[in-house]
Amino acid sequence: MIDKLTSVISEWLASERECPCGRSHRVTTKIVRFDDCRGSALIESLGELGVGSKSLVVSDINTRPVATEVSGALRGASIETAEHVFESPALVADESSVDALSRVIGSVEPHSLVGVGSGTINDICKAAATQRGIPYVSYPTAASMNGYTSAVASLKRGGLKVTDPVDAPIAVVVDLDVIRRSPREMTAAGVADLLSKFVCNADWILSREIEGGYYCDASAQLAALAAEAVIDDLNDIGAGTKNGLATLTAALVLSGIAMAAAGSSSPASGGEHLISHYWDMRGPKGRRLHGAQVGLGTLLCARLYETLASIDPRTIACEVPDDAPSDGEIRDHFGAAAPAVIEQARQKRRTVAAARERAAFIRDNWSRIWSAVEPILKSTEHIRALLSRAGAPTTLRAIELAPNHAADALRWARHIRARYTVFDFAAEIGAFDEQDQRQLLDQSGIK
Ligand SMILES: [Zn+2]
Ligand SMILES: [Zn+2]
Repeated sequence: MIDKLTSVISEWLASERECPCGRSHRVTTKIVRFDDCRGSALIESLGELGVGSKSLVVSDINTRPVATEVSGALRGASIETAEHVFESPALVADESSVDALSRVIGSVEPHSLVGVGSGTINDICKAAATQRGIPYVSYPTAASMNGYTSAVASLKRGGLKVTDPVDAPIAVVVDLDVIRRSPREMTAAGVADLLSKFVCNADWILSREIEGGYYCDASAQLAALAAEAVIDDLNDIGAGTKNGLATLTAALVLSGIAMAAAGSSSPASGGEHLISHYWDMRGPKGRRLHGAQVGLGTLLCARLYETLASIDPRTIACEVPDDAPSDGEIRDHFGAAAPAVIEQARQKRRTVAAARERAAFIRDNWSRIWSAVEPILKSTEHIRALLSRAGAPTTLRAIELAPNHAADALRWARHIRARYTVFDFAAEIGAFDEQDQRQLLDQSGIK
């Protein structure tokens, strides 16, 4: 699978193409390279890209040892190198860390930024490099999530988790020895992030079928290829072999390219990601991996799809009770993040007449909607088995969450972002009240 993945990746690098979806897809990342001896492929890449002779290498306390090796290699190749280490043990990708890095860039004036780390470092670096208009090279330290090549950064702003458009990295250089030294749970989280495809692409299709939203089959196909590749090589990935880790890393890179091409995170993010974002915002303090949370969100969404698929459309009542939270309730629940949540939640509010019309539309188009969505879906049990094989968590307890955290997520997650997901679909036909949510949680098997 690795050969197939790398050949598709290279087709998309530094490309611009017109697509039947009506958009022109532009991928600005120019190089994705596997680096076997610490730093040499990075040095080559910087040279080929002609991004000057001065680099700023960014890391956190966990990735500093790798950053030190990388900086040493760059200096050895006569590349002037400065280092910035985020010393906070609980580093968050938020405005203050982006501003801090932006200030360092302002004083060091590097020609390129090299981010040594995984999700958090990558998001901070992408955002700060975009702010400063300098090229960014990602040097992943774990195959834990698919944001390396995406043109969005997931940031916390005013307490809300937001997805900001940013410049994608100009290059991604992967040292598989570094990835191999990362904790197993991070690799498992990377698999879980990719497996979300089997529900989030269904959400993306729902938004096309019901809201007439933008959808791109070519981008969805890239996400599908990434997910299928990790399933094919799951034993190798679980065993942590070099081949397995190469497949997983390439699949994560490809999934990020799918997002960059679509100009949206939709190919790789739906309701299950809202669950994860909600826990980032309102879950108990503690370090939980993005992919691990997404895996549980995926099980909830897969189970909800199964429940909804068994509904007889003739039983859909078009008088759906309005369950949208009021601004006051949002303020009570979200505190400082409330203004940003209110802005998103308002976009999902409907008048009684519009709600009635929507429910009738879904009822009348039931079989068309399901025939579009069903080819994407995998069963909850299938996804649970894949997560288990990868060593990813399948229960709340495994990531130190309690059932009430999942209940809260089911109640609130769909309101934190205007994006249409299976939760909205269920709510719009009156199949997502408190009791439905409780039943979903019970039946999902994550409790
Ligand atoms: Zn993700
Ligand atoms: Zn397209």
